[in-house]
Amino acid sequence: MIDLKYDKTHIWHPYTSMQEPLPVYPVTKADGVYIQLEDGRRLIDGMASWWCMIHGYNQPELNKAVCRQLENMSHVMFGGLTHEPAIELARLLVEITPPSLEKVFISDSGSVAVEVAIKMAKQFWINQGNQSKNKVLSLRGAYHGDTFSAMSVCDPETGMHHLFKDSMPLNYFAERPACRYREPCSEENISSINFILQSHHEEISAVILEPIVQGAGGMWFYSADYLAKIRVLCDEFNVLLIADEIATGFGRTGKLFACEHANISPDILCLGKALTGGYLSLAATLSNQKVSDGISKNGGVFMHGPTFMGNPLACATAIASINLLLDSPWQERVNNIERQLSADLENCLKQTAVQEIRTIGAIGVVEMKEAIDLKVAQEFFVSQGVWIRPFGRLLYIMPPYIIGKKELEKLTNAMLDFTRTV
Ligand SMILES: *Cc1c(COP(=O)(O)O)cnc(C)c1O
Repeated sequence: MIDLKYDKTHIWHPYTSMQEPLPVYPVTKADGVYIQLEDGRRLIDGMASWWCMIHGYNQPELNKAVCRQLENMSHVMFGGLTHEPAIELARLLVEITPPSLEKVFISDSGSVAVEVAIKMAKQFWINQGNQSKNKVLSLRGAYHGDTFSAMSVCDPETGMHHLFKDSMPLNYFAERPACRYREPCSEENISSINFILQSHHEEISAVILEPIVQGAGGMWFYSADYLAKIRVLCDEFNVLLIADEIATGFGRTGKLFACEHANISPDILCLGKALTGGYLSLAATLSNQKVSDGISKNGGVFMHGPTFMGNPLACATAIASINLLLDSPWQERVNNIERQLSADLENCLKQTAVQEIRTIGAIGVVEMKEAIDLKVAQEFFVSQGVWIRPFGRLLYIMPPYIIGKKELEKLTNAMLDFTRTV
């Protein structure tokens, strides 16, 4: 028996209290799109374990990759040493990411990849004698992680700014893009970010954004045209562009990387989440040569080096996951999921509790008019045989790409049924 009492007394779960923890469900196994609970119930995973498990659980190719690498070495320090898995992974990432991103920093988690990106942007200017470009310009509705620099560029209202305002770097925030995905972007839509850049570019090192899909900050999908215009503005005002594709990378939005919707290359790119197909914690920050030269010239060195940097086990798994993705009909799968999500979720619109629905790639969102009670929702979904974890007013899914038609239907039916209960 899984000792839930011990868990409740001793273990922190994400964003919970140690005095009034929310219930957690004991999992013993996971296979394909199914998460199996200790009591034998099997839940269809609508969350892909927070965007990660794009190929599903217990994937034979990935299992093999882990075992193979385990027999050679699970880890070795990256200071002064290197290895094939890191080199192969870097080669793959340089090849498949947008053009001119060719220097790779491999770290252990998404938040760290964002810290590294922001540090790169600041060091880029410092090493060229410019001490005043030390702020970052972010968008309202953004989410970039939970460490301090990452928090400081998350949405200032829904993020954690109020808790830590005295110990967090102060940054600028432009309005959340009002122009939606599949729509054009007017001059008025970029006026907020344009104005901040115009007035403060001398203090701004970089713009950071999640291309096309703002994830945990509100599941908001915006115009590719907006992204293209931001790229132009960044060049115009001599500000670097950081694209955080930790959630959108590896096919989730229907393109391998969301930047491709606008045909742009950022100066710095953050990857994580689905990088290892959800098997192990790994992230990467890629940059172009302009950034690496700026940091490195006149004897500059980039000041970051985590203990588990370039972990071979995780790198080998990432290589296997990326090859598995590229060898699969992922685009067709994601397109099919998008079509089915759009059709199925349409029915939710008839419910009075529903504000709107949005879909892009393998992401489906039902925005409710009122906040959802997480505990009640979770119990409901588990009773329906699915795993869906809403936040705020948002009921959303981003299933593994291998999900079948029937399984996806079970997820969308459960969402529809839930909207009827509130
Ligand atoms: C999840 C996420 C992060 C943080 O990644 P962690 O691995 O949780 O630290 C950063 N940016 C985006 C867009 C994310 O979705």
